[in-house]
Amino acid sequence: MGRFDSLKKFLGIEKFTKYTNEYFDRSNIRSSFYVASIIVVLEFWMICSTLFFQYLGDLNRSTSWLVTHLVSYFVLFLSAVVLLIYSILHQKKIVQNRAVWWGIRFVFSIISIAFGIYISYMDYLKGEQFITLMTMTILVFCFTVWRPFYSIVFLGSSYGIFFAICNHQIPASYATKVNLTIVLIIILLSAINAYRQKLSEAKKDEKLEQAHDILLKLSISDEVTGIANMNYFRGQALEIMNKKDVDINTLIYLYFDIENFKMLNQKYGFWEGNTFLKNFADILKETFEDSIHAHFSNDNFVVLTKDVKIKDKVLSICKRVSEFDYDIKLGIKVGAYKPINREVLPLIACDHARYACNTIKKHYNLAYCLYDQNMALNFQKKQYIINNFDAAIQNEYIKVFYQPVVNASNGKMCGLEALARWEDPQFGFLSPADFIQTLEEYYQIHRLDMYVVKQVCKNIRNAIDRGRKILPVSLNFSRMDFDYLELAQEVENCLKKYDVDKSMIHIEVTESTLSEDDIKLKEELKSFRSQDYALWLDDFGSGYSGLNVLKEFDFDLIKLDMKFLSNFENNEKARPIIKNIINLAKDLGMQTVTEGVETQEACDFLREIGCEKLQGYLFSKPVSLEELEAKIDSGVFEIE
Ligand code: C2E
Ligand code: MG
Ligand code: MG
Repeated sequence: MGRFDSLKKFLGIEKFTKYTNEYFDRSNIRSSFYVASIIVVLEFWMICSTLFFQYLGDLNRSTSWLVTHLVSYFVLFLSAVVLLIYSILHQKKIVQNRAVWWGIRFVFSIISIAFGIYISYMDYLKGEQFITLMTMTILVFCFTVWRPFYSIVFLGSSYGIFFAICNHQIPASYATKVNLTIVLIIILLSAINAYRQKLSEAKKDEKLEQAHDILLKLSISDEVTGIANMNYFRGQALEIMNKKDVDINTLIYLYFDIENFKMLNQKYGFWEGNTFLKNFADILKETFEDSIHAHFSNDNFVVLTKDVKIKDKVLSICKRVSEFDYDIKLGIKVGAYKPINREVLPLIACDHARYACNTIKKHYNLAYCLYDQNMALNFQKKQYIINNFDAAIQNEYIKVFYQPVVNASNGKMCGLEALARWEDPQFGFLSPADFIQTLEEYYQIHRLDMYVVKQVCKNIRNAIDRGRKILPVSLNFSRMDFDYLELAQEVENCLKKYDVDKSMIHIEVTESTLSEDDIKLKEELKSFRSQDYALWLDDFGSGYSGLNVLKEFDFDLIKLDMKFLSNFENNEKARPIIKNIINLAKDLGMQTVTEGVETQEACDFLREIGCEKLQGYLFSKPVSLEELEAKIDSGVFEIE
């Protein structure tokens, strides 16, 4: 800091922050209220007493003395009244104009000092001390705070002027000069001291305020986008929903999902991803004014707004998002929910909107979906599944059913696929289509899959112990199992526990699970392969990753998706396609199973073109263990 800077600082001609200025103003307005009150009372008393004593004849002053004194009392009285009124209005936040405040304060101070000089001058001429000037300067410069620069200039000049005019009339004694100088210095030092103290208080307060602001911001807003976080959104939404004058029927919750955001993150990095999220939040704020918005999670946002032209607004957002200059095509899906009454909690409302949004995720031409009655039923089912999953496992309401896989060449059973079934005593039958996706959504699927592995191992062990013939069982795994478990290790542990050979197990992974960038998944598959487990690629051709997966991953067998056989009899193109896939698999050294075989015609064709294994309702639906054993025992199912 340069020498001038220190001087500037000392004189108080540095620039203050808005906060410090306001802090000084607040403090000065408060002090001005007291100073003005004192002067109003004092001058009122002076006017009354002067008139009274003059009337009684005690004062015995000349008319000109009386007039000039009364006028000066009155002027000071008036300026104090103005200051008093302004300070009250300011404190009550009725007027808050800085320029007006400064003007009033300035005029009041000049009048006070001029008054002090005038009265003290009169006293001086009578041989008395300059008490009034002292009092007025103390009131003006020590009760209210001035920057030192102003104090030095005003105090110096007022005492200077006073001394000059007094000395001009009656040369001042040495004692008077010393007195005057000492009083000036003391008041000046007190004024500077008061200023310093106020300034340090202001700065300390500002720091505290800033810290408080930061903490508040962190607690209510989301770090990445700057808009509210969910916690704050919930509180705000609750307030709106509970306001009596808000018509609940006009409100709508929106849930936004940004499609392909993950790819944007992967390709452009987190920094760019965050910038996009920030921009998207700004678009939401612009589009939905007078609404509340929040960053829900990763690439999801929620808005509570008025149900006005929502579809148009969604379209405009889609358009703006499509205009971003990325190689990746980003899309927007929006789910909406209209609360039916004030009791619907914001989080539940957001969940409904999210549910509606999820239903259109795979429909590329749909961007907006409103939550309806049908969804409400599905939603209830979902809630039921999540709330009762633990009990279903504990009480074994979830059972393993087995569907035979047959050898195409002789029609005999060569394997089984384990498929989960949930027979709930309260809800009734729940199919995998109902619960698999829900469990995935709530990150619980790995628990189901390990439960199935355990049940299958138990069943196999039990069958061996009872001396029954056993067949290899295919197990279905979800992508999340690879993320949440050391899957190969866990399966191995379970087999060991029940002393089941690994040749009795096939690991089925659906095509949609596979991703070239998923390092954990690749590691786990490698681990299975190195331990000689059979790896089967399920639902091949269901349209997720295409032929590329065959290049990237090693499988022993491909399971053709049952889609290939839909409308098999009437679609001429089905046969050459299936034939080519099976030939391709053969060229790559892999076996094939075709699932969904329902007709003899399809079965004959598949056998003819060399598909090794078949699975489908033509042979059997998935059946319980008891039914399976009964059918084997009665010869309905023949084991190879
Ligand atoms: P997936 O692994 O492709 O299983 C085959 C599905 O096709 C089964 O449906 C089976 O019942 C059905 N299916 C078999 N043959 C025919 C047929 O001829 N015609 C028709 N229309 N369908 C046939 P399911 O049991 O409902 O299972 C559906 C999907 O749920 C399974 O598809 C599998 O991906 C998943 N899944 C089932 N159990 C589990 C499990 O324990 N864990 C995991 N992660 N997924 C499971
Ligand atoms: Mg399967
Ligand atoms: Mg399948």
